[in-house]
Amino acid sequence: MTEQQSVEKMHERKVNLYIAGEYKDSSSEETFEVRNPATGGMLAQVASATPDDAKAAIDAAREAFGKWSKTPAAERAEILFRAGELIRENTESLAESLTMEEGKALRESLAEVKQAYNTVMYYAGEGRRLWSLVTSSETPDKHTMTIRRPLGVSVIITPWNFPIMIPFWGLAPALICGNAVVFKPASYTPILGSKIIDLFVKAGIPRGVLNLITGSGSKVGKALLDNVNVNVVTFTGESRTGKDIAETNARYLRRQVLELGGKNPLIVAADANLKVAVGGALWSAFSNAGQKCTAASRIIVEDSVFDRFVNSFVEAASRLRVGNGLGQGVEVGPLVSESGWQKTKEYVEIGKREGAKLLAGGADLKDPSQNKTGVDLSRGYFYSPTVFEGSNDMRISQEEIFGPVTTIIRAKDMAEAFELANGVRYGLASAIYTTNLRQAFKAMYEIDAGVTFVNQGPVGIEIGASFGGIKDSGYGRELGEAAIDDYTEKKTVYVDYSDAVQPWFYPWRSQ
Ligand code: NAD
Repeated sequence: MTEQQSVEKMHERKVNLYIAGEYKDSSSEETFEVRNPATGGMLAQVASATPDDAKAAIDAAREAFGKWSKTPAAERAEILFRAGELIRENTESLAESLTMEEGKALRESLAEVKQAYNTVMYYAGEGRRLWSLVTSSETPDKHTMTIRRPLGVSVIITPWNFPIMIPFWGLAPALICGNAVVFKPASYTPILGSKIIDLFVKAGIPRGVLNLITGSGSKVGKALLDNVNVNVVTFTGESRTGKDIAETNARYLRRQVLELGGKNPLIVAADANLKVAVGGALWSAFSNAGQKCTAASRIIVEDSVFDRFVNSFVEAASRLRVGNGLGQGVEVGPLVSESGWQKTKEYVEIGKREGAKLLAGGADLKDPSQNKTGVDLSRGYFYSPTVFEGSNDMRISQEEIFGPVTTIIRAKDMAEAFELANGVRYGLASAIYTTNLRQAFKAMYEIDAGVTFVNQGPVGIEIGASFGGIKDSGYGRELGEAAIDDYTEKKTVYVDYSDAVQPWFYPWRSQ
């Protein structure tokens, strides 16, 4: 047994559903496999939930909601704080599991686990706040205010690309606000999903307050959403799926937050510090093998510095070390799945057919004849960091590839750069590298996106500020204070302490 195989053996486990405080098999007893995308090694057998299981989880959450919602938020916070402490104590093993299940380089997994910790601690702190508003009343002897009430059952559906951070973006605020939760992680990353449940169980989450459903979205999605007992849905995933989910939510007139795809522009102005811009573009295009909703998948460079930027960027991209994310010094791991790897290969062919110029990469590293790295990568879904020069109307510039592929686009001036940046159906993240204050402010106000980074690539989301997209990238905002609004209903309360019979019509007071 190789060292890698014995690490995998150590981590191999059975993943069960968690419903009403009990770990359970699927009611059909069916399971599916999760394998390491870098090695093909078996990691877990996972319960494949049925629609009945989904219903049972929603029922359990509905039942637990009453007591949980009446528990003081400061007490709910204690459980979140304990979950946070457990994340910190287990950072290394969580990060190692994350890399084995999802593929990203270990240093990125460590950072992601830290972000999960930051999120749960931030919202645990909210347990002592949960502010709402007192408004000065229009009438004497009256107190006018809004109070916050939890919504009820929250269904949180998450993708595989940040399998511990993104679940916490939903779970932590939903729970602190007093909602009960049904959580469905993506089928590629249920192990991390079940580790999150284990953390909360150890931290003392009451029975039924948090439930886990694992399995394919197409199989249990309908049962999770087509249920009158669900009050809020948070979905992070593809735009197409998000639109379908929005249709169901509309039928129930329920609260939703949709965090969807992106085709994010990174503008490099002629006055930018090019060294800083190359570093930021590299990080945001190729970290997590480009499988990020915020990845810099279009790099728009002003004409006068185009060649200089391209030369350094291509050189740096070609030097990136691809391999098993657990390996020393590895910067880019595998794609998460065979379909992700196939999709990347297909888009590279599409790019070539469209006439885009291949500047770096374009190699299927699984294929020994294309792999020049000197490391055997044939068992994983590896693809080399790929850079095209192309135009904004090409499919590789318009469609989300979700792999290690980026396109550099030439802009004759900054006016054209902004026009190109906005020339897509998505609007999630964006970035500009410039030393010109005027251009920085134009980017802030003129780029159609939920987030703009100045002199930073479109990565590195912080917990305290809201996050989300416009256009096909989503609906609503997560994180910061926005998430407290996502998971609470504001009720307005008028208290009249005049002890007087009021006249019927406005103005109530005679002048
Ligand atoms: P996906 O849409 O395939 O799946 C996301 C989740 O939805 C999974 O848990 C999946 O099982 C579930 N699902 C699928 N079909 C469903 C249905 N009909 N009903 C209910 N649930 C269903 O997306 P993915 O491949 O896991 O993730 C990649 C996508 O996520 C990319 O488009 C990426 O841009 C996007 N993403 C967006 C953000 C953001 O914050 N905007 C963050 C990360 C990823």
